[in-house]
Amino acid sequence: MRVGVLALQGDFREHLMVLRELGADAIPVRRESELSQVDGLVIPGGESSVMDKLSRMFDIAEPLKARIAAGMPVYGTCAGLIMLADTVLDAIAGQQSLGGFDIAVRRNAFGNQLDSFETDLDIAELGELPVHAVFIRAPVVETLGPRTHALGTLADGRVVAVEQGNLLGTSFHPEMTDDYRFHARFLDTVRANASVEVASSRGSGEV
Ligand code: GLN
Repeated sequence: MRVGVLALQGDFREHLMVLRELGADAIPVRRESELSQVDGLVIPGGESSVMDKLSRMFDIAEPLKARIAAGMPVYGTCAGLIMLADTVLDAIAGQQSLGGFDIAVRRNAFGNQLDSFETDLDIAELGELPVHAVFIRAPVVETLGPRTHALGTLADGRVVAVEQGNLLGTSFHPEMTDDYRFHARFLDTVRANASVEVASSRGSGEV
């Protein structure tokens, strides 16, 4: 099992470090040949409009969309979550996303006043200990489709962590803290998905 971190732009090195610390074989992904070697992908924080442009320039946007549609586990943080959203609000002119997550996210949702902040979030799925969440020019999830589940909300009810099948997304940056529970959850999904694929490739009669 090998996982990748989309390494076009943003804080991909931090994610590689976290995944390796959790024992995963993790590689940076910039081209289709690298994407084809991984069983799951993290899309880091950074600047979604730049990541979008680079992904199209490097001809990796279409292969990424195909893998997401085929069920590859993906975890997007901040700009990475924006890249995964079917609808991006307050996008720059011409900005596209890869999509997959049946959500609408608003970029830079906290405005200039509150560009960056930190807070503790209760995330029931990750256990009792609250998650210390670091927000940097962060998006919020404004609309969730019927298949999308809110994992975490701010005190005012705004959704900042979501899950939909093999897709996981946070508006904030766990890779900047020493709490790796979101990455561990992503790796669990990659493992579960890989064993389902092995089982189905063996044919249902033999399982
Ligand atoms: N504001 C950035 C964007 O629109 C996201 C910021 C981040 O990833 N920390 O892509």
